[in-house]
Amino acid sequence: MSNCSEREALEIMQRCPRFERCSAPICPLDLCQDTRDYLPGEPKCGLAKTRRMAIAKGTKLPRKGMTKKEWAAFQRWEQMDDIARRQKLAYLTQISPFCKSDSALKNQDSHIHQKCENQKESFGQISDMEDK
Ligand code: SF4
Repeated sequence: MSNCSEREALEIMQRCPRFERCSAPICPLDLCQDTRDYLPGEPKCGLAKTRRMAIAKGTKLPRKGMTKKEWAAFQRWEQMDDIARRQKLAYLTQISPFCKSDSALKNQDSHIHQKCENQKESFGQISDMEDK
């Protein structure tokens, strides 16, 4: 039996700008999400992880607004040492489609360069989380 509060869960989920239109049965901002069911084909959360994490700040959400899959990746990240993390960041930056284009274009396209920078920042936010 879960001890989550439906009222508290609703209060956090309502902070999502898409809440009124959203029909995803599993919400990463739901304190009771482990008690919900998901059927194949049902919609999934479409809000960016960084936005969910910002909404989740200061709440009791155990996975900080991340999906189970994102949380598992974060846990793996936490268990890596510094060298493994640097290698992972270098790899992620290397495989990012924006950063591939970025180096191919040698930063001549400012739009793609900005997307690459955003991608690096997003990867960096994951690494920053361990310090908090
Ligand atoms: S599932 Fe995603 S889009 Fe829907 S309310 Fe929750 S955070 Fe917002």
